[in-house]
Amino acid sequence: MKDKQQKPIWIQNISQLVTLASDKKGPRVREEMRELAIIEGGSVWLEDGVIQDLGTTREMILKYLPRAEEAEIVDATGKIVTPGLIDPHTHVVFGGSREHEFEMRLEGASYMDIMNAGGGIHATTRKMRSLTEEHIFNQTTRRLDLFLQHGVTTLESKSGYGLDLENELKQLRVMQRLQNKHPMDIVPTFMGAHAVPEEYRENPEHFVNLVINEMIPAVVEEKLAKFIDVFCEVDVFTPEQAERILLAGKARGLIPKIHADEIEENQGAHVAARVGAISAEHLLKVSDEGIEELAKSGVIACLLPATALYLGEKPARARAIIDAGVPVAISTDCNPGSSPTISLPLVMNLACITMKMTPAESLCAATYNAACALQIEDYVGSIEIGKQADLVLWDVHNHQKLHYIFGVNHVKKVWKKGVKVVG
Ligand SMILES: [Zn+2]
Repeated sequence: MKDKQQKPIWIQNISQLVTLASDKKGPRVREEMRELAIIEGGSVWLEDGVIQDLGTTREMILKYLPRAEEAEIVDATGKIVTPGLIDPHTHVVFGGSREHEFEMRLEGASYMDIMNAGGGIHATTRKMRSLTEEHIFNQTTRRLDLFLQHGVTTLESKSGYGLDLENELKQLRVMQRLQNKHPMDIVPTFMGAHAVPEEYRENPEHFVNLVINEMIPAVVEEKLAKFIDVFCEVDVFTPEQAERILLAGKARGLIPKIHADEIEENQGAHVAARVGAISAEHLLKVSDEGIEELAKSGVIACLLPATALYLGEKPARARAIIDAGVPVAISTDCNPGSSPTISLPLVMNLACITMKMTPAESLCAATYNAACALQIEDYVGSIEIGKQADLVLWDVHNHQKLHYIFGVNHVKKVWKKGVKVVG
């Protein structure tokens, strides 16, 4: 006998089943981002952790009525179902919080002023080094619970608050434990080059060598990361250093990502194109030539409008980036300094409000294109037969409304691998 958790789930009468299904492989660009493949009056059958079948409720009743008694039936009248959201850029594993810096910024200090004075990433690094793995694990667990409650079923998580071998490994091991213990799927990224730690301030080259010669081999040896990322920014890592670090990681099988052109235009998009990065992050200050480079190389732009809002910066030029043919993903950038939020739905609102993306583009950017930025689109990111049963039921009757009414959590239920985890 199957226990209650493993009963098939049959969702019926969905006002919009927003599948994002498509025959096209790879990230969606331009008008493809608006094609959501919606089934009005939809129904979906989840079994053994995967999406077994879907169609209109009428079609599905004809097929599945004989099996109705064995399933848990969910009536979704007046509600929509989407794929579980995917957050492709977070720094969710951290200890402590930095509300005092928030106040400092309100009184005029800049993000980089605070970081250069030993705050910012350095403050969180001191926490990572001083707190136990257990403490970090417990704090992060609470954040992951909140992510799930806001419809996120998969997220990427970066290291970069250890900034020495022992503590980078500690942060990555917390991710590995969470992947085993928490319903959330966690895709790990090694980002030892997140900042030059204070002890290497006079000698950043030595730190770059440490990342390349000691940290990358240790991370690869323990199989703790899929991606490698670098903060390429004025006063952090130069384009040349970023390129060396990313290529060293790539040579050992890690896939490059890069924090590019966030605070200042710094050739980050060009480095992304040269190293064959899967994605370039932030891009608030990317140049027109940088956008062209991304388009030519097929790099996904991962845009983070909550961070821009929180830092009082102008948002990324999403319209120009999409029009140039660059696929766009969006993310919370969840971190204790520049974006202390777990709400990807809020980011979806902001993508529309501040970056003029359409609701359909925003939803694509937070599901299918986000999956592409993590190279997991074969099994998540859209609602298609055989894919993992990661779904969200939203208390709105069309997908535009999800983006239109902001500051409200519209999530009613969340299923992860076919098991209800919220609602
Ligand atoms: Zn980041």
